[in-house]
Order: sequence, then structure tokens, then C-alpha cells
Amino acid sequence: MSTSPQQFASDNYAGICPEAWAAMEEANHGHEPAYGGDSWTTRAADAFRALFETGCEVFFAFNGTAANSLALSSLCQSFHSVICSDAAHVETDECGAPEFFSNGSKLLVAPTLDGKLTPAAIRAIALKRTDIHYPKPRVVTITQPTETGLIYQLDEIRAIAETCRELGLKLHMDGARFANACASLGCTPAEMTWKSGVDVLCFGGTKNGMAVGEAVLFFDHKAAEDFDYRCKQAGQLASKMRFLAAPWVKMLESGAWLRYGAHANAAATSFAEHIAGLPEIELMFPVQANAVFLKIPDSIADELRKRGWKFYTFIGGGARFMFAWDAQPERIRELAQDLHAICGTPASEATIVR
Ligand SMILES: *Cc1c(COP(=O)(O)O)cnc(C)c1O
Repeated sequence: MSTSPQQFASDNYAGICPEAWAAMEEANHGHEPAYGGDSWTTRAADAFRALFETGCEVFFAFNGTAANSLALSSLCQSFHSVICSDAAHVETDECGAPEFFSNGSKLLVAPTLDGKLTPAAIRAIALKRTDIHYPKPRVVTITQPTETGLIYQLDEIRAIAETCRELGLKLHMDGARFANACASLGCTPAEMTWKSGVDVLCFGGTKNGMAVGEAVLFFDHKAAEDFDYRCKQAGQLASKMRFLAAPWVKMLESGAWLRYGAHANAAATSFAEHIAGLPEIELMFPVQANAVFLKIPDSIADELRKRGWKFYTFIGGGARFMFAWDAQPERIRELAQDLHAICGTPASEATIVR
């Protein structure tokens, strides 16, 4: 068996966690009704309702782009618009899918310093134009944690929700790393979502340790109307739905979802601690979830790559390191030691830090 060493370019470089794998195996017995009529899908939806302490509507999609795009489409008419941050995945990484699936609802992009939306930014965009010639603002989408690895505190979510209510806007949350956010804040999923005014949540399973699959949770029941048809039309209705649903059952019922979120966050913090104070290296954002963004000179980035490390620089030019559910302390230490070596601090010093 050959295994390639861990990289921290993306949390999606990781494989499948044992709980999700075991659930697939367990679901792989006998025949079950197709298209979500199976017992696993019922159990997974119930597990979400139990976890979120409310009778929300639950749907399963293959990936986050589909989950976000379809969720936003369900909140919009084609002439509506969606307010998002300039760093939002829906804007930068979904190839226009939200506009495509909504038949043209335009994304209105707010410039931000750190990827986080604020009530003031939302208000500025929503009130900039109110005439018939401009697409009518209808939804705000926030990413929790943000693409920059930051966390919206509960009072920040509540303030955004308050602004949304005032302006007649719905609130969508892209929770591709929802588990990391819950682990970071130490609050309940309910507190972070419907209790704070979120109408629809996309809860990421893939980055949490599953092979594939995201859940779309509607706390606003009316918005969920005919969402099953929307999924089907978009090619997102799994015929063997039990294999999308079963991993959720085990992830949620065992608490693995939160444990892995916490592990990934701790890994990011540990990496940041390992390299704290290195000359020429600057943290671009505080480490609040499972991402570490480093501002490093090109020469250091090149040297890191020469040593075999993979990482992206697509957000603000910084080197992004993402830590997955299975991030290995040993591998994190190796990366830190390479950075120490490149920056000219003696290796012994590099090993002193935890
Ligand atoms: C990974 C990610 C998604 C989902 O991306 P897919 O590749 O479509 O599964 C959505 N939003 C954010 C913020 C992400 O990081």
C-alpha cells in the first residue's frame, strides 16, 4: 500500500473518516427504496432535527456548489439579487452556478477587508439602488467560518439577521466548514443558525470527513417548498440516497462531526504557534478555525514548494494552509521545521515550540 504524505493545501485532500466509511459499509446490505425513500435518509434527517433542536426541512446534495446554488435559488426569483462578501465561495469558486440555477439572480458583492460581511456593508448595497432597473436584493449569504478562516460571533450573526429583517432579506449560511465553526464557538448548532436568525444552512459533510455530501437545512419551511424538484432538476437527487445519508447518521449520532471540527481547528492553532515570531512571516488573519493564512515573500514560497509542500495563494496572495479532520501533528511539525529552516532559525529552536 502506498500512501502519500499529508499536505495542507486543502481540507479536501483528506480521505474519508472511519465513521463515514463504516456507515457506507453498514448501509451496503440488502435492498432499500431509492431516491430517499430509504430508512437511512429518514434517520439522517431526524438526526439533523435532533441536533438542531427543531423540525427543519432536510435535503442532501452531492457538493457544496450545488447546495449553495440551489438553496439561494429557492430564496430568489430570477430578478432578485444576493448580497455576499467579495471572498465568498459563491462569488469566487462556483463558476456562476448560483446565477445559473436561479436563472439570473445577480450576486451583489461587498468589498471586505477580511472576507466578513457587516450590517453596514449589507445596508450600503441593499440601499444603493431601489429602482426598477436594478435587481432587487432578496438574500444575504454569509460563510461560517469565512473563506479566510474567520468566525462570525453569535452577536455578529444576530446583527446581520436583524439588518436582514429590517430590509426584507433572507439569510443564508454557507457552512461548508460548519463543524469547525461550532467547535470554535462552542455553541450549539441551533444557536449559530435559526436561533440567530439564519433561514437556510448548507452544512458541509465533505470537509468534515465524508466522501461526498452536503446537507441543506431549511429553518424557513416555506422556502423549502418544492426544493426536492429543484434538486432533481439540477441532477442532485441521488438515486441510491442511502449512501449520501448513512455517513451523516454516524457522523451526527457519534459526535464525530464536532470532534473532527475541533481536531482540525486545534491543528491550525498548533501550526500557527509553531511558526509564531518567524521573521518575514506574517499571519494574515487571526486563526479561529482550521485555516492559517501566511503572508510570505515569494522566495520563501518557492523554497517551500521545492521542499514538496503544496499550498494555494488565491486569497489575497497569501499562502493558505488548511487542516483537515485527520491532520497529523508530526506532519505539521515537519512543515513548521521547514519554514524555520528556510527562515534561518536553527532547527533546535524549531523543535522547542510545542
Ligand atoms: C469547499 C467549499 C464549498 C463547497 O465546494 P464544492 O467543491 O462545491 O463541494 C462551499 N463553500 C465554501 C466556503 C467552501 O470552502
